[in-house]
Amino acid sequence: MIDGKKKIFLSPPHMGGEELSLVREAFESNYIAPLGPMVDAFEKEFAEVVGIPHAVALSSGTAAMHLAMRVLGVERGDEVIASTLTFIGSVTPAVFQGAAPVFIDCDRVSWNMDPDLLAEELEDCRKRGKLPKAVIPTDLYGQCSDLDRIIGVCAPYGVPVVSDAAEALGARYKGRHAGAGARAAVFSFNGNKIITTSGGGMLASSDAALVEKARSLSQQAREPFPHYEHTEIGYNYRMSNVLAAIGIGQIRVLGDRVEAKRKIFEYYKSALNDIPGIEFMPEAAYGKCNRWLTVVLIDPKVVGADREAMRVALEAENIESRPMWKPMHLQPVFKGCRVRGGSRSSALFEEGLCLPSGTAMTPDDLDRVIGVVRRVACK
Ligand SMILES: *Cc1c(COP(=O)(O)O)cnc(C)c1O
Repeated sequence: MIDGKKKIFLSPPHMGGEELSLVREAFESNYIAPLGPMVDAFEKEFAEVVGIPHAVALSSGTAAMHLAMRVLGVERGDEVIASTLTFIGSVTPAVFQGAAPVFIDCDRVSWNMDPDLLAEELEDCRKRGKLPKAVIPTDLYGQCSDLDRIIGVCAPYGVPVVSDAAEALGARYKGRHAGAGARAAVFSFNGNKIITTSGGGMLASSDAALVEKARSLSQQAREPFPHYEHTEIGYNYRMSNVLAAIGIGQIRVLGDRVEAKRKIFEYYKSALNDIPGIEFMPEAAYGKCNRWLTVVLIDPKVVGADREAMRVALEAENIESRPMWKPMHLQPVFKGCRVRGGSRSSALFEEGLCLPSGTAMTPDDLDRVIGVVRRVACK
């Protein structure tokens, strides 16, 4: 503790209350294993909540994306199109498969993949005679990308869309859940996500065969023989039955968590919106964000301090904040990769700061953050 001040984390886990007894139930059944009744029940409840009929619980969101890439046949020499403004777990699975990522800039309405830029890129791909194997739009910070438009752009080329909804559990797009309508959707239960199993992920699709194929690959691609026969190479990506018990408790409070996250956003906004040079992440008219993290843009020319100065000032008060994701086209590891646009994402990265958004935050906690932001910005 700094000066006795309680640490405020960016987005810590927030248990609902039922988790421990569900974990105890898992212990009592002795299914301390990957697979088991908790995994089955978690998959079922999850599928009902998101309205996507088939789902397989996995060890991480990255594993879920990797299986999506495998099932869609992404392989060496292929190209895969992704949002540049995202977390790297969205993109690494395509690279695991030997594909080259191609990045698309965001728009300023949603901060997600710009469908117009995607259309231009796909047309150029067609002219070059090499279409991508998949398009992966990320639902950034819990805001859905414009999925119908993205699917509409991809459909004439026959390119499947995999929704990276890892940050968007509980978010809605035109009334549907995030990811619904894509060929497949990826979710994460990492420790800082809106709900957590400590670590875990889910791959969901309306295509039963796709999910069954992913399920098989996640269990070392065992053929149904007592002696474990293998005709292809798989992975060990299943979710533990113990962690699935946590997931069941968590999915049951998802609605509460979304409302709490949205309230936190509104609290910050009403307390800080009057400050010139501070701007809040917009909400696109087509959907409802889960507001996983409250993101503000800090214009240093107006505020007199940049987002890094703000982050350091918060840190000095034992408050964790984080710059926005650094766009993939600026990452050294993706140097030389193709990018369409990029300046909008770069500009957001320069100014964007994620404020603490834990759903167990009290008004006092929020006021502590607000106090620092006002002190730095209103000098
Ligand atoms: C968290 C996240 C992932 C990866 O999920 P893990 O469960 O941490 O592997 C992928 N994409 C995005 C956009 C994420 O935020």
